[in-house]
Amino acid sequence: MRVHDSSGLQALLRRAHPESSRFGVRLSEVSRWQIGGPALVVVEPRSIAEAADVVALMRDRIEPMLVVGDMSNVLFDSDGFDGVIIRIGRSLSTMRALGTMVHAEAGIAIPQLARATADLGLSGLEHTVGIPGTLGGLVTMNGGSQRKGIGLSVARVTCLDRSGNVLEFTQSECQFGYRSSTLQRPDLIVAAVELQLEPRDSIEVHAEMDEVVESRRARFPEDLPNCGSTFLSDPSMYEIIGAPGKAIESVGLKGYSYGGAQVSPQHANFVVNTGGATSDDVLAVIHHIRETVHRSTGFAMDCEVRYVSPDGDVVPAHIAAEERRRVA
Ligand SMILES: Cc1cc2nc3c(=O)[nH]c(=O)nc-3n(C[C@H](O)[C@H](O)[C@H](O)COP(=O)(O)OP(=O)(O)OC[C@H]3O[C@@H](n4cnc5c(N)ncnc54)[C@H](O)[C@@H]3O)c2cc1C
Repeated sequence: MRVHDSSGLQALLRRAHPESSRFGVRLSEVSRWQIGGPALVVVEPRSIAEAADVVALMRDRIEPMLVVGDMSNVLFDSDGFDGVIIRIGRSLSTMRALGTMVHAEAGIAIPQLARATADLGLSGLEHTVGIPGTLGGLVTMNGGSQRKGIGLSVARVTCLDRSGNVLEFTQSECQFGYRSSTLQRPDLIVAAVELQLEPRDSIEVHAEMDEVVESRRARFPEDLPNCGSTFLSDPSMYEIIGAPGKAIESVGLKGYSYGGAQVSPQHANFVVNTGGATSDDVLAVIHHIRETVHRSTGFAMDCEVRYVSPDGDVVPAHIAAEERRRVA
């Protein structure tokens, strides 16, 4: 029988993982968008074995469980999260290189990993240097910039499933596509990644990374909390109208706001939290943008950002936005 008993779960984790567990964490204090109510528990495992232990402990329970990294691509609900969030972060962030092959734990921060590979005279991660978040999050999302995805450099991914099995996936098994991969399964924890890089002069790699960072600084809003690009670029829309930011600007929504959520006046594909934004504010802005662009251009833009419901459903945010509107 599966068990749902919040205080029992808290007591269990307090006993089994006292140093890695935090209770009643306000997600607005830890997520990049600074939005989200309290989570029952956030566990930050200090080893893969500890992560496996937490997963095993959750096996017969019905409380939701979610794996996150730096929470830079997720919108938490202002009502919070009624379960366990496993955060693969700084405490799982070692890396080592053997020739051009780099093995890194999933919690390593992307800018840190990129600069470390540059120090070693290795090329391949130049485009990622300005992206916040962890390696696990980036690989799951096949994130990247300059029309590239990290998947290009991935040789092998080590995961843990909910039964505690260690699974290995090769690059082709991950089926990396535009911001997608087969790793986007709720039962998988990305634990470590092997990257196949190329030799290149270290000074050249750092110089290209400096340029990438500089160009992002000029284009993207940095002063207000956000989640990066809200909408995915659609190749057929790109050919006719351009990127999502251009489409949003063309329908006059740059600067549009609802509650504490605003379409960034600097880059229209960023939705910023101007102070006290709720998840409903952001979903309302996403819905309004999507409808307006669709009405005017015929293209329905989909979200890159994932919405996380209090009971653990994770869906692209435009789907949650539509659902809200339907119910209201
Ligand atoms: C200012 C800003 C700029 C950005 N620019 C870019 C950009 O240029 N390109 C780009 O691609 N993205 C960009 N992003 C989005 C985001 O940074 C990336 O998608 C990032 O790689 C997500 O990593 P994360 O650790 O924050 O993942 P999270 O946001 O914590 O999680 C994202 C998804 O991955 C899953 N996940 C995370 N870690 C794991 C794991 N270890 N195992 C299994 N599943 C996991 C989560 O469940 C969730 O579904 C930007 C975000 C911000 C705030």
